[in-house]
Amino acid sequence: MRYEGMVYRPPSEARSLIIQLTIGCARNKCTFCSMYKEKRFRVRKIQEVIEDLHEARRAYGPHIRRIFLADGDALVVKTEELLAVLEEAYRLFPKLQRVTAYGAPLDVLGKTHEELVSLRRAGLFMVYIGAESGDDQVLKAVKKGATAAQIEEACLKLKAAGIQVSVTLISGLGGPERMKEHAMESARLISGIKPEYVSILTLMLEPGTPLYEEHRAGKFRLLNPDEVAEEMLLFLSNVDSEGSVFRSNHASNYICLGGMLNAERDCMIEQIKRARKAGQYKPEGFRGL
Ligand code: SF4
Repeated sequence: MRYEGMVYRPPSEARSLIIQLTIGCARNKCTFCSMYKEKRFRVRKIQEVIEDLHEARRAYGPHIRRIFLADGDALVVKTEELLAVLEEAYRLFPKLQRVTAYGAPLDVLGKTHEELVSLRRAGLFMVYIGAESGDDQVLKAVKKGATAAQIEEACLKLKAAGIQVSVTLISGLGGPERMKEHAMESARLISGIKPEYVSILTLMLEPGTPLYEEHRAGKFRLLNPDEVAEEMLLFLSNVDSEGSVFRSNHASNYICLGGMLNAERDCMIEQIKRARKAGQYKPEGFRGL
């Protein structure tokens, strides 16, 4: 496999074969994100991607069970090309159980229901959507390039086609000024989608990003651990997403949580309250992205 630059994948794809379908992110404008800043976006030639699949087959035999299509937003690729990659992947790896990818909301909305159904039938199992927030003011401030309504519509469109959805939010993204709205609107967004998975990271600033510079200039403040706990309590107390697996067990989180919504929501709320009372948060030095 020929990898270009740093390759990112969701934590749950740690055991997956990663194949770069695109290089970088087509938008690359989010003010908090440093992932693909050094890459100039392009869609790889499909023949190259298929050659990588063949190389993986030679290296690992037929044993691959999971493939993650990197980089930032595989769904920007034309449907017929995606179908060709999926078809070859399942042909080369008969034990393959799932193919997943990051997807940008507007790219999902750019595909018809029929196209998404054909991708599901070809084996696109789940799409990871970085919603980051349900609050339009926060989304606009961080230049996400999609509104909460568009994110919700995209996720529902994926679900209607039978493709699972994993949504990520970022705690602290609204700073103290939008903390309440960020939590409440994110709860509303997730309640509207009811994704299979929802996870919350906690904002960490990375040098080189516009948000880092805003912070240095005193224009943006990070939440402290008590405020992050309060924001999480607000979110969990207001979310109604029966059947979603909830996780905030990322290296960036101050409190590690995991459980089913809505069944284990009260238990997670109690965990946060206990941690807050005892000041039991992950030390800064142990946090990471
Ligand atoms: S957060 Fe996602 S959409 Fe935004 S710049 Fe980073 S990879 Fe691209």
